[in-house]
Parts: sequence; structure tokens; C-alpha cells
Amino acid sequence: MTEVELVGNALCLDFANTVNARPVAARDWLATSEQALAWARAAGLPIEDTAGLAEARELREAVFRIFEALANDGPPPRADLDAVLAVHAEGAARARLEPAGGAYGLRWEGPRTMRVLMWEVAASAVELLTHGPLDRLGACPSCVWLFLDTSRNRRRRWCSMTTCGSRDKSRRYYATRSA
Ligand SMILES: [Zn+2]
Repeated sequence: MTEVELVGNALCLDFANTVNARPVAARDWLATSEQALAWARAAGLPIEDTAGLAEARELREAVFRIFEALANDGPPPRADLDAVLAVHAEGAARARLEPAGGAYGLRWEGPRTMRVLMWEVAASAVELLTHGPLDRLGACPSCVWLFLDTSRNRRRRWCSMTTCGSRDKSRRYYATRSA
């Protein structure tokens, strides 16, 4: 199994990036229960069961459409904003506020299920939507992975230099040579 890459700098974006390349996924970490468990573990948010995997994929696509639109300075689909907020509201109704790294965060007691992971993703999406920095949102032009550009000069273009960045560089290299 290939390695999980976390390049989004926000949980909701990493969750959107569980699909590699759209519209036809070359790899989908939410395709099977086994892969979903492996992804959650690698993301540092392990879960015990994956009931509701289809709903998790729906949430992922809503999150993707929202932030892809915003990365391209377009308005996110209203239905997707509503869908993410509904999941967030459901989670917030069951959460407790607990200290987390100098602030407070939503925490859930009980078994860590796929639903809890979905609440965490929705909370991350709402946090990013309400607090930004949306001007730092980017979408990789090659694989459409989403990320927050945390570089000082704000010039990040690729999901990662090792995958798409270098792929593009070699493509340009060979294009120049054959010209
Ligand atoms: Zn990429």
C-alpha cells in the first residue's frame, strides 16, 4: 500500500485529498474500510470502525467542491456549505469543549467511529471557512489536491514538489528537448 501524504495543512483539506486526481481517482483512501482505517491512522486520528463510509465520501466531495471553488476565487456551492454545516451541527451537539493547544477544541467521548472523524472534518472546514486564511488556499494544477500555502513568500503552487512539482519539471524538460 502506498503512503498517505498529508500536504493540506488543514484536516478538511487532507480529507478532500484522500482522492488522488479528479474526476477519475487513481487512488481513493475511502474506497474500502481497510484503506479508511489506514488513512485515519496515518493522519493521527485513528478510528475503530468505518460504518457510514459512503456518507464520509459524500462529505469529502462537498468539502472538496467548497474549497476548490474558493481556491479559484469562485463562490462555493450553497448545497455543499449547507451539507458541511449540517454535519458540523450534528457533531457540535454531541461534543464537549476541552483545552487543546492554548485554546479550546471540540472533543467527543466514546468510541472513535467514522462519524466522529466526519465531525472533526466538518469542524475543520467550518473553522477554515469562518477564520481563513482563505487567501492562502491553493489547488495543485496537476492533481487538484488542495492546500493552505503556509510558505513565507506565498508562492506554493504544487501539492508537493516531490510528486507533481517534479513531474511538471520533467515534462517541461522533455518538451524543451524535443522542441
Ligand atoms: Zn499535485
